[in-house]
Amino acid sequence: MNEHLLSGIGMTSQRTRNRLVQRLRQSGIEDEQVLMVMANTPRHVFVDEALAHRAYEDTALPIGHGQTISQPYTVARMTEVLMQGGPLRKVLEIGTGSGYQTAVLSPLVDKVYSVERIAPLQKRAQQRLRQLQLRNISLKLSDGSWGWPEAGPFDGILAAAAPEVIPQALLDQLADGGRMVIPVGGEQQTLMLITRDGDNIERQALESVNFVPFLPGLLR
Ligand code: SAH
Repeated sequence: MNEHLLSGIGMTSQRTRNRLVQRLRQSGIEDEQVLMVMANTPRHVFVDEALAHRAYEDTALPIGHGQTISQPYTVARMTEVLMQGGPLRKVLEIGTGSGYQTAVLSPLVDKVYSVERIAPLQKRAQQRLRQLQLRNISLKLSDGSWGWPEAGPFDGILAAAAPEVIPQALLDQLADGGRMVIPVGGEQQTLMLITRDGDNIERQALESVNFVPFLPGLLR
């Protein structure tokens, strides 16, 4: 990918990105590190070219297969909440999708593990993240219900799809002192912050959200 494409022009320029960051501030995002990464991450690279001019609007956009790239506010908010416990070494993401949230996490944590259940999305995300030369990322085609046991425990877990009930494997793979940010529910969803203190699991409801469902199995 050439420099020109990455840095963007017109509707994908740095000025347009900075306007998005201003909006995120107005919406209540406070973590300066997160805001800086949002300003530096080329979201237009993660959507189809035909939608690139809308990449810095604060909305979810279709990425095919009935899925969406998450709204920038949601990505920033979930990242901010995840980071509020201090620096993170290992983070597991469920639902790579376009790879955008993965790219936002990459400069903020030591290592990102991300799983996606839809093969074509997973492949495209892998290509994009490789082009961006983000090297602390491991991706896998897998059903997130199983987590990533060989790589865990994780001090951060972030899910971009909403299960009705949090899979036990994810709770099991949350490290002591770890934090999980996950939307939970069917039609009505709540963004939950789950923290572990020894054997004690605490659940805190944060805000109403609207995510795609967390689905079982793989789609090849
Ligand atoms: N953060 C991504 C969000 C993509 S939408 C982005 O900004 O692009 C959520 C993704 O979760 C979809 O791609 C969907 O296929 C995936 N997903 C849903 N259930 C899953 C599961 N059980 N395991 C892995 N991925 C899952």
